[in-house]
Amino acid sequence: MASLTELLQSAPVDTQKYETLYKHFHANPELSNLEAETAKTVADHLSRLNAFEITTNIGGHGLVGVLKNGDGKTILLRADMDGLPVLEATGLPYASKVTMVDVEGVVRPVMHACGHDMHMTCLVAAAELLVRLKGEWSGTLVVLFQPAEERGTGAQAMVDDELYEKHGVPVPDFALGQHVMAMRAGSVGLKAGTIMAGADSMRITLHGVGGHGSQPHRTIDPAVMAAHVVVRLQTIVSRELNPADISVLTVGSLQAGHTENIIADSAEIGIDIRSVKPETRQKLLASMGRIVNAECEASGATVPPVFKMTRHLPNTFNDEAMTKTLSKSFTEHFGGSFDPNIPTTTIAEDFSILATSQGRPCAFWHWGGIEEGLWDAKAKEGATEDIPANHTSRFAPAIQPTMQTGIDALCVAALTFFRQ
Ligand SMILES: [Zn+2]
Ligand SMILES: [Zn+2]
Repeated sequence: MASLTELLQSAPVDTQKYETLYKHFHANPELSNLEAETAKTVADHLSRLNAFEITTNIGGHGLVGVLKNGDGKTILLRADMDGLPVLEATGLPYASKVTMVDVEGVVRPVMHACGHDMHMTCLVAAAELLVRLKGEWSGTLVVLFQPAEERGTGAQAMVDDELYEKHGVPVPDFALGQHVMAMRAGSVGLKAGTIMAGADSMRITLHGVGGHGSQPHRTIDPAVMAAHVVVRLQTIVSRELNPADISVLTVGSLQAGHTENIIADSAEIGIDIRSVKPETRQKLLASMGRIVNAECEASGATVPPVFKMTRHLPNTFNDEAMTKTLSKSFTEHFGGSFDPNIPTTTIAEDFSILATSQGRPCAFWHWGGIEEGLWDAKAKEGATEDIPANHTSRFAPAIQPTMQTGIDALCVAALTFFRQ
């Protein structure tokens, strides 16, 4: 039997076509839950392959292509589609100039600052390659394009919209996904067990009593209350949790009042936490509750704070057996560019819901998007963290070899499980 590398080389895709598609996605990003045009473009490209049964508008703008190719396993490959409210500063000729009104009615700049444009392009190209290699595998291929990953809601929305029931998408035996990261282009990293932490986000409203800026004694100042809360929250990870456990607490937004001479009635704090172990998550949440309540009481607040959970993403847990199988294939194909045991990252994903909601295993890997010369120069200085990473305005994956690596990884992974 031909090796997977030989198979892929026997049916190369037109990289020029996919570089054009990538630039189109990059220049035309859409915010979470608003990915209408993106989904249309994906569906259009998939339908040109004349092989997939395509279903659109699942859980919002989610879409799925199903290719039944005889007996065998069902393999799901997933890409996410949303951009971020970031003003692009890459200076690339195909940089985004897009603004959009978000779901809250605010005009935002939009950028594919997390590389989901690369994910989609690689998956469409991998779909083409797997169609062309149809004679070499049998089973059912599901290519799934998910909305609203950045809000952590898209995968669950597709499941809740009865992706596997009403929409008739076969439940996968194995679900596979990938994310482009600020790693050396051409490199691929995997890990058995938890590869990505879980995340929770919440908004906390602190109620004070507003008044004239000149008469603070007649108020309960929520800005001062919020300032104490923010500082005190920093002690949870640094003083209360075991340093050996991965955990993060970030105050990502802080808002009180609109002008200089008025003391506001309330303040709002937006918090994001990351954890790997469930008990660490519980401790983070409990400590946050204790501190916020106590600081409000210390300030003399008469109305208790209000907590609202806005987002939950589970840990991304790579099935041990799948990871072992996949590691073997990736080692064969990528050689020394493949790392089978990368560190767990505090970046989170909702991909695993597509599998775990059905009691099925999944595997997720990271691959590099940073131009090799830049990476090597920074690595020499021990300064790779200076390279703009995901979610920054200057995140700019090198199109190649990033794209080829992403296409190869998807195809190698799918063929591995089809031919198992
Ligand atoms: Zn992201
Ligand atoms: Zn992402």
